[in-house]
Amino acid sequence: MASSVENVVIVGTGCAGLTAAVYTARANLAPLVLEGALPGGQLTTTSEVENFPGFPEGVDGFQLMDNLRKQAAKFGARFEQARVESVDFSAQPLKLRTGEREILTKTVIIATGASPRMTGIPGEKELYGGKGVTTCATCDGAFYRNMAVAVIGGGDSACEEALFLTRFASKVHLVHRRDALRASKIMAGRTTSHPKIQMVWDSVPVEAQGVGAGAVSGLKVKNVKTGAERVLPVKGIFVAIGHVPNTQPFAQTLDVDENGYFKPAAGSQVKTKAPGVYVAGDCADHVYRQAVTAAGMGCQAAIEAERWLAEHAG
Ligand code: NAP
Repeated sequence: MASSVENVVIVGTGCAGLTAAVYTARANLAPLVLEGALPGGQLTTTSEVENFPGFPEGVDGFQLMDNLRKQAAKFGARFEQARVESVDFSAQPLKLRTGEREILTKTVIIATGASPRMTGIPGEKELYGGKGVTTCATCDGAFYRNMAVAVIGGGDSACEEALFLTRFASKVHLVHRRDALRASKIMAGRTTSHPKIQMVWDSVPVEAQGVGAGAVSGLKVKNVKTGAERVLPVKGIFVAIGHVPNTQPFAQTLDVDENGYFKPAAGSQVKTKAPGVYVAGDCADHVYRQAVTAAGMGCQAAIEAERWLAEHAG
C-alpha cells in the first residue's frame, strides 16, 4: 500500500517547531509534528520566563510551551512521538526515517534545537532548573541580584554570560580550565578587565554543593596545576561550555558549520540547499538563541513552506 504524502513535517517541539506548527496549521496544511526526547524543548527546563513578549508578570516555561502546543493542536497540528534517524532529501517526496517507519512529505521544517553541554559534576543534575544551576544568564540572571555567582567556561558564551551577569550579581567568578580564554580578544579583554568579574584560572569544577537543601550553596573547584581545592561561595552556577546542536541525522545531507549548526542558504535565515527543506531555531542559530528569535524563525520557515507548496501545487 502506498504511504500518503504529508504537506509538511515539523521536526521538534521547542519554540521554533511549535510556532511553525501554529502557522502551518492555520494555513490548513495539517502539519505532522514529530516530538523528540524533550517535548517543549529547552524552555521546559527553566522555571520563569520574564522576557517573552506579552507576559508582564512572566510566564512559566513549561506553561508557555504547553500553551503553544495547544494552540497548534487547536488548528489541526498532529503530534507523533518519533526520533528521526536518517533522511533522503534528494528527490520529492522527501523521506524521513524514524525508528518505526518511513514518512513521506513535500516539505520539512527542522527545528531540533541544541542541547547545552554539561560538566557532569556531582550535584549539577540535581540542582539544575530553578535550584541554582542553569545554562542561560539571559533567562535567569535577574534572579541573582546582589548575590555571588559562578560561570564555567572560557569561550565567547562564558564571557557573554559573565558580562551580562555583572548587571545583577555582586560578584561573578569565571572558572576556566586553562590560563587563557578561548573567547575573541575583544570579549576576553572586556571580561578580564571588568571589576566585578574574578577570574578563576586553571580550574575545573568538582562539585555543585547544596543538594541536601535543594539550592546551590557553593561550587567546589580544583586548580589543575596545584591540585588545591576550594569552595566558591555562590548561589548560582552558570554552565557555559558550549552547545551541541541536534543536527546529526541531517548533517550528511544539509550544510553545517564547523560546530555542527545548520548553515542556511545565502540570503535566507531558514532556507537550505534542499528544495522544500527549512531550518529554524537553535539548531541553525548559535548567536541569539532566544525563545522569541526561535519563534520568529519558526514563523519564517512556515511561511516559506506554505509558499513552496503553493508554487508546487498540483
Ligand atoms: P566554545 O567556543 O566551544 O567554548 C567552550 C568553552 O568551554 C571553552 O573555553 C572550553 O575550554 C570550555 N569547556 C568545554 N568543555 C568543558 C568541560 N567539560 N569542562 C570545563 N570547560 C569546558 O563554546 P561557546 O563559547 O558556546 O561558543 C560557541 C561558538 O559561538 C563559538 O564559535 C563562539 O565564538 C560563538 N559565539 C559568539 C558570540 C559572540 O560573538 N558574541 C557569543 C557566543 C558564542 P577550552 O578553551 O579549554 O577548550
